[in-house]
Amino acid sequence: MSGTFDVIVVGLGGMGSATCYQLAKRGVRVLGLEKFEIGHAMGSSHGLTRILRLAYFEGSAYVPLVRRARDLWIETGKAAGEPLFFEVGALDIGRQGSGIVENAETACRDHGLAYDLLDREAIARRFPAFRPGADHVGLYQPQSGFVASERAIIAHTALALHHGAEIHGCEAMLGWEATAGGGVRVRTDQGTYEAGRLILSPGAWIGDIVPALKPSATVIRQTLGWFSPLQPALFAPERFPVFTLETEGGHFYGFPLWQHPGFKLGSPHYGNDVYDPDTPTRLPSPGHREQLRACLADYIPAANGSLLGLKACMYTMTPDEHFIIDTLPGCEQVVVASPCSGHGYKFASVIGEVLADLATRGASPFDLSMFSLQRFIGR
Ligand SMILES: Cc1cc2nc3c(=O)[nH]c(=O)nc-3n(C[C@H](O)[C@H](O)[C@H](O)COP(=O)(O)OP(=O)(O)OC[C@H]3O[C@@H](n4cnc5c(N)ncnc54)[C@H](O)[C@@H]3O)c2cc1C
Repeated sequence: MSGTFDVIVVGLGGMGSATCYQLAKRGVRVLGLEKFEIGHAMGSSHGLTRILRLAYFEGSAYVPLVRRARDLWIETGKAAGEPLFFEVGALDIGRQGSGIVENAETACRDHGLAYDLLDREAIARRFPAFRPGADHVGLYQPQSGFVASERAIIAHTALALHHGAEIHGCEAMLGWEATAGGGVRVRTDQGTYEAGRLILSPGAWIGDIVPALKPSATVIRQTLGWFSPLQPALFAPERFPVFTLETEGGHFYGFPLWQHPGFKLGSPHYGNDVYDPDTPTRLPSPGHREQLRACLADYIPAANGSLLGLKACMYTMTPDEHFIIDTLPGCEQVVVASPCSGHGYKFASVIGEVLADLATRGASPFDLSMFSLQRFIGR
């Protein structure tokens, strides 16, 4: 196969599928390449849902991006004919003085977001599924919620196709080179294509495609668990929010019941389970089942029923835990997008827009300096 396009997008997970949609909607001739099938479970976006928090304790500077992302999820859900964002509220539970609740509050104050501060008793009163620890405090932000991450990849791809994008699943990019005319030539296992611009959004495979980034993009295995709740009514989306929960055993997160009989709980953030994304299976990390169980037993006993499932997924962590979104030094027609560090999915809708802006206009209205490649490789 061959062909000439305005833009080629490599990697159609959360970020790439949104980018193809945003480009196609603008009338750009776009080719999207995905090495697995569309909507697979080998990358970083599977497991049904992802949290979208506005009270961004990772940094107040993210709030304008989250706000635009939330608007776009709602808008794209309408275009797709199915909601992609669910406003169930978000509760961040931290240990007193650890910075989680304080930083979430700073984000709310800086950006005029509604929030409630809750002490230990107030958390248990308002959300009786929780049994907070003695030093726990919380911040509840009502406009937050979750994104249907698997459905969103399908929806973005369907919309991209509808607007004229060419999408190739089960086709891996093997390499690319700059052409004399200032564009790119992309070689895949099925053919060769040319384009004016190239967007690289390959998730955990970023270090293979941009070798200079290998030392700065560490792939860590994560485990998600689904447990049969003992009191399911407590976890209904009408009365249970998405949450993050800082404990002595790590930083957990979870969701209300949605499209699955199990209560979904995420494993402690980060960890050291460095992983090779080319491993052919996705088995959960040893020991994570027990860590999830311990969290339920101590803090969410009403969810501590039988185990229904475990799934492994990958974080691609940068040393400062911020994203990479930038043009490649010496090759301005190539944009590199690695927005993960364990918190990227919520932004996929807006990152699609940002990448489309970079590819078509060479600039974005958002300040992307925090995401520069220069942090890790020189210009
Ligand atoms: C367990 C877990 C929980 C998380 N929870 C949250 C959360 O609650 N909220 C949140 O905001 N974020 C969360 N994240 C982070 C978020 O899911 C990721 O940041 C996001 O999924 C990254 O999307 P991506 O498009 O970069 O990667 P992916 O979705 O993995 O997409 C990359 C794609 O590129 C393809 N590809 C790679 N190489 C090639 C090639 N050579 N040719 C063609 N295709 C290629 C891959 O097959 C893949 O489909 C979580 C992550 C995990 C693992």
